Amino acid sequence: VAKDKGRNTVQPYRPEMNADHSQRLKLGQELRHALQREELELFYQPQVDLEQERIIGVEALLRWRHPQRGLVAPGDFIPLAEDTGLIVPIGEWVLTTACRQAMIWQELGLPPLKMAVNLSARQFQQPGLIDQVAGALTQTGLSAEYLDLELTESLLMRDVASAIEAMEALRTLGVRLSIDDFGTGYSSLSYLQRFPVSQLKIDGAFVRNLPAQSGAAAIVRAIIAMSKSLQLRVVAEGIETEEQLAFLRTHQCEQGQGYYFSRPLPADDITALLQRQARTARDDAETATRTD
Ligand code: C2E
Ligand code: MG
Ligand code: MG
Ligand code: MG
Repeated sequence: VAKDKGRNTVQPYRPEMNADHSQRLKLGQELRHALQREELELFYQPQVDLEQERIIGVEALLRWRHPQRGLVAPGDFIPLAEDTGLIVPIGEWVLTTACRQAMIWQELGLPPLKMAVNLSARQFQQPGLIDQVAGALTQTGLSAEYLDLELTESLLMRDVASAIEAMEALRTLGVRLSIDDFGTGYSSLSYLQRFPVSQLKIDGAFVRNLPAQSGAAAIVRAIIAMSKSLQLRVVAEGIETEEQLAFLRTHQCEQGQGYYFSRPLPADDITALLQRQARTARDDAETATRTD
C-alpha cells in the first residue's frame, strides 16, 4: 500500500484514479452552475402524526436535476458542495425556497405545516448562518415557529461548546431545532440535556430492523423513553411497514416519516395530498355535525 512507503513516495499512476478525480472536478464545475441554471429542486416528504395519521409537516430534501445524469440524490453531491464551499449559497437557496413553499401552502388556505430543513456541517459553522435564516424568514414572510432546522447528531458532537452557542443564537430567532439521525452519533445524555433542541429524529437504520431485531427494538424504546423524560418530541425516520408503524405506536412515538406514508415528492404532488387531507377533514366534520 502506498501509505506504507512513507510520505514522499509518488503514487503509481492509475488511470481509474485520475478518472475519479477529473469526474469530481467536472461535477464540481457543473454544480457551480446548477444554481443559476435552476437545476436544483426541493422534494418534500410528509411528517405524520402517528396517532391520527395526519400530515403535520414536511421535510425539504434536495435534488439536482442534472441535464445528463438525471435526478441526483443529495448523498452524491452534498459532500462535494461541502468541500467546495458551494453549500453556503446552495443552503441559502434551500432555506428560502422551502420557506417560500411553506407560505404558498398557507396562502392556499391549507392548515400551517412545519417545514423541516437540513443543515450540513459547513453551513452550520459559517458565521453568516443566523443572517441567512433570518433573511429567508423576512424575505418570504414565514413565521419562525414553522421552521424546523435539522442538525445531525455527529455534527453537534464535533465541537459541543460552539454548537451550543450557534444553536442558542438560532433559537433567539424563534425557529425550532431537531437532532437528525439520532442514535448514530454517540452523544451522551449530559450533552443532550444541554442542547436547546425540541425534537429528536430516530435514525432510519434502527426503524428498519423493527420489530424483529431485539437490539433495534430496545434502542428505539430507549430513545422514545428518554425523549419523553427530557420533554423532547420524537420522530421516527424510515417507516416502511405496517409492523414498524404498529411497534412505534405501541411505544408512543408521536411522529414519523417514511415510504409507508409517502416518498419525498415534488411540491405539486404534496399540494394534492394536502388538499385531499383537508377535504377529508371537512367531510368528517360535516358528518359529525349531521349525526350529532
Ligand atoms: P436525512 O435528513 O436523514 O433524510 C432522510 C433520508 O431518508 C432522505 O434521503 C429520504 O429520502 C430517505 N427516506 C425517507 N423515508 C425513507 C424510507 O422509508 N426508507 C428509506 N430507505 N429511506 C427513506 P435523501 O433525500 O437521499 O437525503 C439524504 C440526506 O441528504 C439527508 O438525510 C440529509 O442529511 C441530506 N440532505 C438532503 N437535503 C439536504 C439539504 O437541503 N441540505 C443539506 N445540508 N443536506 C441535505
Ligand atoms: Mg433530515
Ligand atoms: Mg435522518
Ligand atoms: Mg441521514
